[in-house]
Amino acid sequence: MTLRQKLLEIQKQKSALLAANFYNLETLQGILGAASDLKQPVILQISPGSVEYMGLRTAVGLARTSLRDFQVEGWLHLDHASSIRLIAEAINEGFDSVMIDASNRPFNENAEITSQVVRIAGRTQAVVEAELGYIAKPGESQMSRNYTDPDEAERFVGETGVDMLAVAIGSAHGFYSGEPVLDLDRLREIRKATPVPLVLHGGSGIPDNVIQEAVRCGICKLNVATETKNIFMKTIRKEVQNNEEIDLRIVFPPAIDAVRKLIRSKLEIISGL
Ligand code: 13P
Repeated sequence: MTLRQKLLEIQKQKSALLAANFYNLETLQGILGAASDLKQPVILQISPGSVEYMGLRTAVGLARTSLRDFQVEGWLHLDHASSIRLIAEAINEGFDSVMIDASNRPFNENAEITSQVVRIAGRTQAVVEAELGYIAKPGESQMSRNYTDPDEAERFVGETGVDMLAVAIGSAHGFYSGEPVLDLDRLREIRKATPVPLVLHGGSGIPDNVIQEAVRCGICKLNVATETKNIFMKTIRKEVQNNEEIDLRIVFPPAIDAVRKLIRSKLEIISGL
């Protein structure tokens, strides 16, 4: 099933897909292990930083081969790309979905750049995600209130033809400084104003019941990254703390397992397992 078809199905079911960022073979194995344990589909996300780290073709090869090996239904998504050139390359390499992030630009520029990406993707099956309003990136102030306006969301989707919309409703990337509060009324308004699947970024650290409520209010894709990096590195630190182990094939498996457990819990939350 293409991601486009799957999103339609998910939207009808008022459910969501987990979109998990991976950074290397080990985090990929943890994510796919979890999806395979629960027989759940998953979107594998790669940020431009991870593309730089792994190489685009290596990352695609790793993801595609591992999806087959783990027998998981999954798709490949380019997360937070601001370069049209990288987006075109990713689409050429067969990504199922790309995010153009021009959310730091004024509405008209964001709409113009997003339309350009929609035209490029239009020659393929690739799904396009854009962000309207602004979701704080790691290290940025989480106090700014540049939330998505429902009327603007309607206009933006109409003008650009974008397939998925990332909404700013109180979530933020990275660790939260306090308990995150999502503006679910706004989310409901955005849902009413536009038919496209809505995306919640900054999934790490949002309480389980709030995630479930957000899914009921129209979120179809939940992004999780920070918790994966955090649990992976914390486990590695613990593994090497009191020994001189140099065999990374001994050090990594507990960290892969920790990611597997984390992703299993996220899949359970959104699929109501
Ligand atoms: P977190 O890193 O806060 O989980 O957010 C992930 C994300 O939204 C990736 O686009």
